[in-house]
Amino acid sequence: MLPVVGLEIHVELATQSKMFCRCRNHFGDAPNTNTCPVCIGMPGALPVMNRTAVEYSARVGMALGCTVSDFTKWDRKSYYYPDLPKNYQISQYDLPLSKEGVLDVPLAGGRSKIIRVRRAHLEEDAGKNVHDIPGATGVDLNRAGVPLLEIVTEPDLNSVEEVMSFARSMQRLVRWLGVSHANMQMGHMRFEPNISIWVGDPAKVFDASSGYFTPIFEIKNLNSFRALEKTTEWVIEYHKTQLRQRGQGWSEAQIGKQNWGYRDETESCEFQRGKEEAHDYRYFPDPDLVPVVVDDAWREKIRAAIGELPLARKARYMQEYQLSDKEADALTQEAPTGDLLDSAVKAGADAKRCANLLLGRGSAIANERGCTIAEIGITSERLAELAKMLSEGKVNASASAKIFDRVIETGHAPEAIAGELGLLAVSDNTQVEQWVEQAIAANPGPADQVRTGDKKAKAAFGFLMGSVMKFSGGKCPPAAAKAMLEAKLQPKN
Ligand code: ADP
Ligand code: MG
Ligand code: ZN
Repeated sequence: MLPVVGLEIHVELATQSKMFCRCRNHFGDAPNTNTCPVCIGMPGALPVMNRTAVEYSARVGMALGCTVSDFTKWDRKSYYYPDLPKNYQISQYDLPLSKEGVLDVPLAGGRSKIIRVRRAHLEEDAGKNVHDIPGATGVDLNRAGVPLLEIVTEPDLNSVEEVMSFARSMQRLVRWLGVSHANMQMGHMRFEPNISIWVGDPAKVFDASSGYFTPIFEIKNLNSFRALEKTTEWVIEYHKTQLRQRGQGWSEAQIGKQNWGYRDETESCEFQRGKEEAHDYRYFPDPDLVPVVVDDAWREKIRAAIGELPLARKARYMQEYQLSDKEADALTQEAPTGDLLDSAVKAGADAKRCANLLLGRGSAIANERGCTIAEIGITSERLAELAKMLSEGKVNASASAKIFDRVIETGHAPEAIAGELGLLAVSDNTQVEQWVEQAIAANPGPADQVRTGDKKAKAAFGFLMGSVMKFSGGKCPPAAAKAMLEAKLQPKN
């Protein structure tokens, strides 16, 4: 038995204006303020394609290693819902912009798996029904006509872990490429998993002579990672129960595909419709729109905007900068944060120190503010200056955290701040010597253990280091303290 899942992912593109009109593409405005005759479906209004939306979509296609067609067209997909008043959605049916790509998704234990992407096509989003009016349902058409990229995978996902990792990798990719905010709460990214179980040899999925599928469940419109995770778990369990009770009767061949919905309150799914009620969308080419021709010049322009992809960047950080898997991962969540690190390194700072600063106070501030590390407002110059001060022993780690915060507040140079706050480490040797002597005088026992090479000498040395730091009020550079202590506590033979 093997769970089999294919995902459809809808990604709203972060263009300034909508897909086929010039209305603002923006979440959270007053209802129906971003509308015009085109996107509310007035007869006779003529759509005009948004080139940027096509560029963004092709960027995603290329990053997924898809074939991006040089010729695509627009089709009308008929459906009748209040949130789509023209009674059809403009989409791409038989000629999607991108097809046949892959996404490599990381899994536990350093493994990864290549998931095939079947297609990625561009369409327009529908409006939204609003249920918070007592006794009535409203329709907000601000979202109608927002460019929507639909990405469809092959049924290559075989566990909840793989589904979740794919979803997260896709979110990271579209953010990285700068084509979507991919904010789940704002509906920028929605998932529709198709879930079934292969009953038979897991090595021979799709070989009808060696097994069969349970009915494929398609779960519509999941708008959080949690909903996707809970749904996938729930449906797999449901199928297992059905198999136990109904055996072979619970098969795709006998029952067919079904649409189910997810309920947040119960964290479970419910039946919506079966295959006999399947929609007939009556796709046909939209006569109001000209086909899209992607010529070589345009293709090159789009390709040039892609740059290094997140997984490649992460691998480079581990290799070139000697960062750990976790550090490299955290610094490649979005391109601007990685760019900040790269620029600071280019300015001559040590990569590991920069990474520590960004993942220490940088990440803490980002969490407090709910933004990315790049957005907290430190420039690569300031980051590099502070990292260099650490490398040169001008400040210690705890001082650097205070300075980091002040740099964010004021934008001033770390040197100046360190001076102002009295955080500059003292490199004057007589001063260091004084602190070291104070530490030794205050701790004769440990000092003796070090001198005699006692078996506790190492711990005693660490204790004395701490004492020097205390006497110096944190100002003594650790390297200087260590050297001076060693000199003063020469072993006795
Ligand atoms: P169509 O919409 O053309 O009928 P499919 O049903 O083949 O296309 O695919 C729709 C989605 O269902 C795709 O994401 C695909 O990966 C997935 N899918 C196909 N077969 C299965 C299966 N046996 N179990 C789960 N998902 C499947
Ligand atoms: Mg669909
Ligand atoms: Zn409009």
